[in-house]
Amino acid sequence: MRQYDVIVIGGGLAGLLAAAAARKSADKVLVLQKGVGAIAVGGGSIDVLGYGTDGRLLPGPQAGLAMLTAPEHPYSKIGACLVAEGLYFFSELTAKAGYPYGGSLSTRGWLVTALGTLKPSAFFPRSMDASALGTAPEIAVLGFNEMKDFYPELVVQGLKQRLGTNKKYRIIRIPSGLAAGRDVNSLDIARNLDHPANRQALALQLKRTLPAGTAIVLPPVLGTKPDYEALIQLEQETGCVFIEAAGLPPAVTGLRLQSLLINHLRDEGVEIMEQADVTGALVEDGVCRAVYTDNFDRRRTYGARAFVLATGGFYGGGLLAGIETVTEPIFHLPVRTAPRDEWGSESLLPEDGQPFAKTGIAVDASLRPVNAAGDIQLNNLYIAGRNLAGYDNCMEKSGNGVAVASGYYAGKLAGEVRA
Ligand SMILES: Cc1cc2nc3c(=O)[nH]c(=O)nc-3n(C[C@H](O)[C@H](O)[C@H](O)COP(=O)(O)OP(=O)(O)OC[C@H]3O[C@@H](n4cnc5c(N)ncnc54)[C@H](O)[C@@H]3O)c2cc1C
Repeated sequence: MRQYDVIVIGGGLAGLLAAAAARKSADKVLVLQKGVGAIAVGGGSIDVLGYGTDGRLLPGPQAGLAMLTAPEHPYSKIGACLVAEGLYFFSELTAKAGYPYGGSLSTRGWLVTALGTLKPSAFFPRSMDASALGTAPEIAVLGFNEMKDFYPELVVQGLKQRLGTNKKYRIIRIPSGLAAGRDVNSLDIARNLDHPANRQALALQLKRTLPAGTAIVLPPVLGTKPDYEALIQLEQETGCVFIEAAGLPPAVTGLRLQSLLINHLRDEGVEIMEQADVTGALVEDGVCRAVYTDNFDRRRTYGARAFVLATGGFYGGGLLAGIETVTEPIFHLPVRTAPRDEWGSESLLPEDGQPFAKTGIAVDASLRPVNAAGDIQLNNLYIAGRNLAGYDNCMEKSGNGVAVASGYYAGKLAGEVRA
């Protein structure tokens, strides 16, 4: 059996942050991940808390955290100071990696979606910052001919509704420059724009039609790497402001963040094992001694002093829904759900969230799993991310914020466990 200080199960945003935080005080950290997380489809913005539990737009993330009253919410368990510490840790990490995120806890930022709506967020790549839409006299929405998932007309329609018709709006469509006869997606175009010469050609095309100072909304295509080289070059060569839209899988902005975090972990000597499906655990006297993976050839066992469970919710595979029950498949932890006939609210978007979305593992103030009576189930296991009970990330706009804050806190606690 291979022995580690900390083992993180799950390689989504919560798991990667947990590993980074654990590594600060633990030497041997291992990430076991079955697949990639929601970050690859969900985008790289860190939405902390856009809307309150009554559905009202909050003045800003920090003010929203102070107004949060739900005791079961992960942020209430973690506490506002540690949430802020986790988000600061994240921001520092992006800055050190040369891809500093914009935004802050005190002010609400806005992102444009591929539907032309505006979404509140807290921390985001600078290329997604939509604040220039308020000041630019002219807005252009750029589409690529062979790309089917981004409709500039829809974006313009949405923006007119929200920003008014006083501004000048334009739609620009250009060939993607990729092989004709096939559909292309944002990742194809981003790969193409990894090359400075292709960016220069795009800048020349845009300069011919758009005056300097135009805010250009486009799909997330400004390169695949976690840097701002494409953004800087295009802005310098056109004099325009570029704004990448959110919510368009494959989420190039999320993939950039994923590479940044993986590069950081590898530099720090964290081991990352991919296609490692954790299927069970060895537990003695309320302590987890090891977990095991089952592959086609054989079972492998990995021991550690502390573990972080960051396997996601229904999407990631951390929670499994049956007809009547929801289960957690590795440790068989108790899962907190609403009574079966109350899983779904009749209203599609109820202000206080959908009950099924709040399904998850209940925890104590140290993120250790508890049962309905509040008894800790395993002393050296910490829960992080989408498998936590008590929040509806879609309604609140809090998904990646909870992943960062709980991942950081769970990793920090796990790293501090001594034999
Ligand atoms: C389509 C979509 C769009 C979204 N958009 C946004 C957004 O714009 N802003 C925002 O803030 N949030 C957004 N979210 C929510 C946000 O992405 C998630 O809440 C957050 O990323 C969850 O991270 P996680 O690490 O907890 O879980 P996941 O990202 O689900 O990661 C779980 C990880 O655990 C692994 N795993 C599962 N079971 C096992 C096992 N048995 N063994 C080993 N590994 C296992 C998975 O392979 C994966 O690596 C979006 C989510 C989706 C699905």
